[in-house]
Amino acid sequence: MSANENGAPLQALDTRHHLHPFTDFKQLGEQGSRIITGGSGVYIEDADGQRILDGMAGLWCVNLGYDQPELVAAASQQMTQLPYYNTFFKTAHPPAIELAAELCRLAPKHINHVFFTGSGSEANDSMLRMVRRFWALKGQPEKQWIIARENGYHGSTVAGMSLGGMAPMHAQGGPCVPGITHIRQPYWFAEGRETPELETRSRDDFGRLCAEALDTRIQELGPDNVAAFLAEPVQGAGGAIMPPDSYWPAIKAVLAKYDILLVVDEVICGFGRLGEWFGSQHYDLKPDLMPIAKGLSSGYLPIGGVLVGDRVAETLIEEGGEFFHGFTYSGHPVCAAVALKTLEIMQREDIVTRVRDDLGPYLARRWATLEDHPLVGEARSLGLMGALELVADKASGERFEASLAVGNLCRDICFETGLVMRSVGDTMIISPPLVITHEQIDALVSLALAALDETARQLATGGHGAAPSATSSSLLSQHSSSLTSES
Ligand code: PMP
Repeated sequence: MSANENGAPLQALDTRHHLHPFTDFKQLGEQGSRIITGGSGVYIEDADGQRILDGMAGLWCVNLGYDQPELVAAASQQMTQLPYYNTFFKTAHPPAIELAAELCRLAPKHINHVFFTGSGSEANDSMLRMVRRFWALKGQPEKQWIIARENGYHGSTVAGMSLGGMAPMHAQGGPCVPGITHIRQPYWFAEGRETPELETRSRDDFGRLCAEALDTRIQELGPDNVAAFLAEPVQGAGGAIMPPDSYWPAIKAVLAKYDILLVVDEVICGFGRLGEWFGSQHYDLKPDLMPIAKGLSSGYLPIGGVLVGDRVAETLIEEGGEFFHGFTYSGHPVCAAVALKTLEIMQREDIVTRVRDDLGPYLARRWATLEDHPLVGEARSLGLMGALELVADKASGERFEASLAVGNLCRDICFETGLVMRSVGDTMIISPPLVITHEQIDALVSLALAALDETARQLATGGHGAAPSATSSSLLSQHSSSLTSES
């Protein structure tokens, strides 16, 4: 039976006409989509009336939860006043101007300009255009290369996917934009523990090794040909990957040797997710440019932008002439009004400090308890972002066979038990709304535990249609026998 009985007529229409993002169209057609019809606080509701705790804040964006009347009022008021006007041809309007000023007030001191876009992908496209334009204006047009990271995510437009380091996207969307290269990611659990070049089993040594990869690549390309290094403070879509403590200081030391711009993609980490206004502040970084989106409007309306540091902005302004770039919806007045109200609420309710001093540490304590589960090889979190690494063998950290798709199994079970937790391979990730309470964090962790138990049970019995490996099967059957009574 469909998980969404009352949504059946809509499901049928959906299947017939709607191509979803990042979706196997045929498979979804066979299974049907879950129709989400409402939301309130940190919960969403589906067509069957099931309330689901949204552990992902939509797609890392609904930071203020699903029922902020002030955001609705701000949109409605602006719709009435001026629903649309562009910011081309020497025009502007109050929401875009006020939002630009407010963003620059909240940003680090050396950032005093913003270019608006409609999304995070457009923000990264715009950033790429600006970076190359900057070096051309500086008389160094050969500085073209952008060094980004494997398994980084910077969007799904052609430039966004080229900047990102997601191999399956490159395989489908190529040829990629030329002049973009990727270095290894600082992903200890997936890549650090078994790195042959590493003599010690130290996370910090691994972090330094990953930073050396930047130095090596700069040398290979020639520093005079490298425009920028691009990274997320914490990789989000790649799997909520917090780098080893040594990583960012070592990257900063490499960048200090060369005249290369630093671009920090704040689309996920910006606006409080890591307990600072920007993720780069958590890691004490001084980016030249910061693409932003998502939490800027709490996801209520699409808006993004690039925060541009003085060095780049002054050159673009003083020496640039016309910049042939922009979007119909750059600085859209209704989106800007909602973003302004979002920033106002965040400051009034002191949400960023609350994430840093209260909610983040509370989640960290509760989340860490999941590491005791036999399926979990590592539980990590920072601010209100967390991950669980699912493993077949807890002692060795051995992964499940990919064909078992254990992450997807766990994700689907989560949905059934009333929690949105996303899977990236066998890594489960959360990024709940920043207005979540302690009690709701407790509920989130309990639901995650129940889903882990059920995943273990199904793996042990082969109930999801694929047989578990010998090691995982025996380990999990022991475990599930002790858990089924609780779950
Ligand atoms: N950058 C990062 C770090 C992201 O996580 C995302 C979206 N998940 C993007 C860029 C692209 O944003 P959008 O989907 O709004 O284009």
